[in-house]
Amino acid sequence: MKERYDFAEIEPKWQKTWEDSGLYRVGDEDQTKEKYYCLEMFPYPSGDLHMGHVRNYSIGDVVARFKTMQGYNVLHPMGWDAFGLPAENAAIKHGIHPFKWTISNIENMKRQLSRLGFSYDWDGQVTTCQPDYYKWTEWLFLQFYKSGLAYKKKAAVNWCPGCVTVLANEQVVNGACERCGNEVIKKDLAQWFLKITDYAQRLLDDIDKLQGWPDKVKIMQENWIGRSEGAEVKFRIDGTDEVITVYTTRPDTIYGVTFMVLAPELPLVEKLTKGTPYEGAVQDFIRKMQTMSDIDRTSTETEKEGLFIGQQVINPMNGEKIPLLIANYVLIDYGTGCVMGVPAHDQRDFDFATKYGLQIRLVILPEGVPDQYVQLTQAYEAEGIMVNSGPFDGQDNEEAIKNITKYMEEKGLGSFQVNFRLRDWLISRQRYWGAPIPIVYCDKCGEVAVPDDELPVYLPTDVEFKPTGQSPLAECESFVNTTCPKCGGPAKRETDTMDTFICSSWYYIRYCSPHDDSAAFTRSKVDYWMPVEQYIGGVEHAILHLLYSRFFTKVLKDQELIDFDEPFTNLLTQGMVLKDGTKMSKSKGNTVSPEETVAQYGADTARLFILFAAPPERDLEWSDAGVEGAYRFLNRVWRLVYSYIEGLNETAKVEEVSPADKETRRLTHYTIKKITDDINLRFNFNTAISAIMEFVNWLYLYRDKNTVRNSAIEAEAVNTLVTVLAPFAPHAAEELWHELGYTGSIHKQPWPKYDPAALVQDEVEIVVQVNGKVRDRMIIPADFSKEDMEKFVLEQDGVKKLMEGQQIVKVVGVPKKLVNIVVK
Ligand SMILES: [Zn+2]
Ligand SMILES: [Zn+2]
Repeated sequence: MKERYDFAEIEPKWQKTWEDSGLYRVGDEDQTKEKYYCLEMFPYPSGDLHMGHVRNYSIGDVVARFKTMQGYNVLHPMGWDAFGLPAENAAIKHGIHPFKWTISNIENMKRQLSRLGFSYDWDGQVTTCQPDYYKWTEWLFLQFYKSGLAYKKKAAVNWCPGCVTVLANEQVVNGACERCGNEVIKKDLAQWFLKITDYAQRLLDDIDKLQGWPDKVKIMQENWIGRSEGAEVKFRIDGTDEVITVYTTRPDTIYGVTFMVLAPELPLVEKLTKGTPYEGAVQDFIRKMQTMSDIDRTSTETEKEGLFIGQQVINPMNGEKIPLLIANYVLIDYGTGCVMGVPAHDQRDFDFATKYGLQIRLVILPEGVPDQYVQLTQAYEAEGIMVNSGPFDGQDNEEAIKNITKYMEEKGLGSFQVNFRLRDWLISRQRYWGAPIPIVYCDKCGEVAVPDDELPVYLPTDVEFKPTGQSPLAECESFVNTTCPKCGGPAKRETDTMDTFICSSWYYIRYCSPHDDSAAFTRSKVDYWMPVEQYIGGVEHAILHLLYSRFFTKVLKDQELIDFDEPFTNLLTQGMVLKDGTKMSKSKGNTVSPEETVAQYGADTARLFILFAAPPERDLEWSDAGVEGAYRFLNRVWRLVYSYIEGLNETAKVEEVSPADKETRRLTHYTIKKITDDINLRFNFNTAISAIMEFVNWLYLYRDKNTVRNSAIEAEAVNTLVTVLAPFAPHAAEELWHELGYTGSIHKQPWPKYDPAALVQDEVEIVVQVNGKVRDRMIIPADFSKEDMEKFVLEQDGVKKLMEGQQIVKVVGVPKKLVNIVVK
């Protein structure tokens, strides 16, 4: 054994041994063992691992190794979310084919991951851009299609001029493209959608089942689904047969409606104003709207602007005529594009009414306000008593919501309605680098699904990448032209590809049977391994990826293809890696390269630092001093174990047990308990590691202060130290384990169990005072009573000597602390 901790030699050596011996090869579906599926979100192969990845996978690796040592049958896979725009953009920019670019990135990142020593079974690697994977993505799409959950429709969609493709609503952040930051515009296009709205209620209800998820993620999902209850109310336009339908969550304010606002782009607006004196002004207004983004239009900062369009609508409850306007803040794709104006009870409406001199009528009286004729200085949005509301006057407004809705239903004026913010998922992209949508179009038969035995629809490789704004697939004639599977006539292929979020909505199921070439997954294997016990990833996936995966799972369950309805039992969202207080990012230039860190200090040090610096959910501030500290600690462990091994042949075996030996045994078992609880119950790796550090400090003291040590107790302590270190610093622990003379990998050793009896602190040191002055110290059994203690102390020879010639007046014992003898 070398005296020096040489990670550069040790780490690659063990990585090779582990790989060659298939140490992490996933076992069979052993029914006698409890299974544990530990999953980290798979990366996009951008080219290089960053510290965020290292953190994510280090957390998962500790969990997987710990569970393996606890005796679980563990599945801990890794793969690549390999389709997507960056590959295509790189193709345009550098003239490399996306496939080549992606595969070489995967190779590089796999090498980097291997150098970090993560316990993945690479044999089960899944790569979404390979035909053996996307064949089944296509097949799954067809299952959705055949059950009516995938459909094509023309819609005003979000178009990113930068990425030259449509985006899902979820990918538009503050009016801009989530990926490139370009402002997103609206375009009318025929697009493919998945009917996630059919599952809105279940996706919401089942959030209750996610006991092992962070509350913040559950709240984000709940808000995204955005369920509301209210009423749909019909307003007829005076003098016409046109009816406007409005959705409101506040039917109790219906008597307070004093104006109605339409989205300027609604076709109805043009119809109502054509040929009227309002036409010109309305057209000008619409043109002005086209220069504003949706975000600007609805921002609370933006001045509300409106225009009367010459018509009145009739309030169905009281027959009152109210003016009809258009305004910047009403969007065509939000609800029905019509909003009722209730200025007394909505601040935005209040501001608008004040600006345009529209009537403000109070219909809910706040507590303590004498009457309904009070002049409001702002909208009143809370509860109260109904006024100015015909037969509903005097009712509590909460009660009136139900009564008014019921009344409207009886009279055919409106109906109770549940609304969701969630929209159907737009999945088609006008790009090349994605899974093809397996549909063909035939003049005779129309839209036809590609039959299962013709899957996969291969992505052609001979395409040209030019920044034309057109999908390269649409220009690839050999791809586009095909024959109709139904009639055999000429047909054209769908040239859109699927959103990559589809690929990542089912990869965790594919991991259960990654080599199955006759099905998307092997049922028996999925039944055994799913659901995932522990999922780990960044909170940026809290909505899209997790919601889509839950949706896929529910659809597959309904089709009886699987037998669980939530994919991820527990979720851990790890914090970010910061440097100088901000997230590490290339654009800020504050990144630290994992590769360089590993080259300088070794993988074990990098991992140990990351796990020690912060609890997993919190953000972690990168610190070079902290890395240095983790490195020094591993050296300290190394030297301790080294000196122990060196001493083994020199010292005689000792069987006597001294108080220091006892304390060593107690601390050994205390450390096992502390680390086990910290990992098991809370994933508090940082406190687990500090318990190891304290244990090491004690072992140095124990060694340095006791020339004679109990052999068995010391051996147990050193073995335990190396064993509990294994999940955190797998290479160093493996090397030390073998240096201690063991064969077989430490990573297959059973996790140590603590002996509760050993935890009892059974002896304590007390002081003996004479007239309040310390005269002696002694070790006594910890469970001695006050009387036992006093008697014991007085019987000791040393104390007897002290008492010679003195008269004892009183003896005062304080259990576990001291005995004071008063003499005269
Ligand atoms: Zn973009
Ligand atoms: Zn046909």
